[in-house]
Amino acid sequence: MHVHTTNSPDAALTESELAHRASAEGLAGLGFVAHLDFHPSDSCTGFFDGARYQAAVQEARTQNPELTLLCGVEVGEPHLYGSKAMDSIRGRNFDYVTGALHWLDDHLVLGPDVFKAVSPHEVAERYYRTTLEMLENPLFHILAHLGIFRRGMALAGLNTSFDETLLWPGLLEDVLGAVISRGIVLELNTSGLRRREKTTYPSIPVLKLYRSLGGTHVTLGSDTHREPWVFFGLEEGRRILLEAGFENCRYLHDGELKSYPLHPRAITR
Ligand SMILES: [Zn+2]
Ligand SMILES: [Zn+2]
Repeated sequence: MHVHTTNSPDAALTESELAHRASAEGLAGLGFVAHLDFHPSDSCTGFFDGARYQAAVQEARTQNPELTLLCGVEVGEPHLYGSKAMDSIRGRNFDYVTGALHWLDDHLVLGPDVFKAVSPHEVAERYYRTTLEMLENPLFHILAHLGIFRRGMALAGLNTSFDETLLWPGLLEDVLGAVISRGIVLELNTSGLRRREKTTYPSIPVLKLYRSLGGTHVTLGSDTHREPWVFFGLEEGRRILLEAGFENCRYLHDGELKSYPLHPRAITR
């Protein structure tokens, strides 16, 4: 549910190439996303073209009728740019909108530089407080890569092994409680498993807290951008979800929430 194509400027494979790959690997389907950003310093700002993107997904659907190919949008900083984003996609049927936090003011949390200016725990706390703002009036279905500041933290050479559910239990419960009460789906993003921090976003303690609070709506996302990391970590992600007590994974088709079983024995082909 998190596969970038050449309709994002930072990704290298087309919709058709990724669909062929999914088919060859025996996947039943995949969910594309295209970056839709408005932050003035973001390298993706200004690149999104809804018509071009949807035409490319449609072509991949025609070539691969055996797959369920979903077409989504990843909106950066939806608490700031959500209504601008909605203006950009109005009248076009996207299957889902994913909300992502990449920037804290003028600091990119995915990179190391913010950690030169702000202490690591302060970055993390501000990240969760801003996520709570994003959830106040969410114009998105899926919350992307919760806790992705660990990527920047690891790049800055810092230890990422702290547990935020112990450091700020009330804040984390507020964030995950808002995810649940607003009907937002929590993404388990597996791209960090291949990075120095070797963790999913969210980390396992955060995922378990979400489950213990009654959360059941999770998607799996590889955050694919290019080779050699296409669909990386999905099997590991599935194992983590099963161990944390989830039985089903979600996806959104035309805005409607659907499920598939996580346990391999429950899947029939
Ligand atoms: Zn993102
Ligand atoms: Zn993404």
